[in-house]
Amino acid sequence: MSATHVEPPLDSPAVVRQEVEGLMMTHPHPLVVDGDVRACGTCGSYRGWVVISLRDEVWLRCPAGHEQHEPRLDTAWYDRHSGPVTHRHETYGDGLRDLGH
Ligand SMILES: [Zn+2]
Repeated sequence: MSATHVEPPLDSPAVVRQEVEGLMMTHPHPLVVDGDVRACGTCGSYRGWVVISLRDEVWLRCPAGHEQHEPRLDTAWYDRHSGPVTHRHETYGDGLRDLGH
């Protein structure tokens, strides 16, 4: 057993930051940005989004699972629309499952 091997403590800043780094919410209705209804660039869906706030970026995930960066939205927009965070997820997949995707 190596004496130099040290596991990071579970409450280290790195672990905490990872947990809060990505937030997501459902947006079932058409999403309008600057007067444009946003549509999936791959399949054309325009509702049933999952909106993901990741670091300083906002990503849109359509019902078919395509993801695209939405540069006109930011985390401030996300915060205004999402309301308080009710619970956190260990992983991206857990979050999607909880939202029914
Ligand atoms: Zn799509």
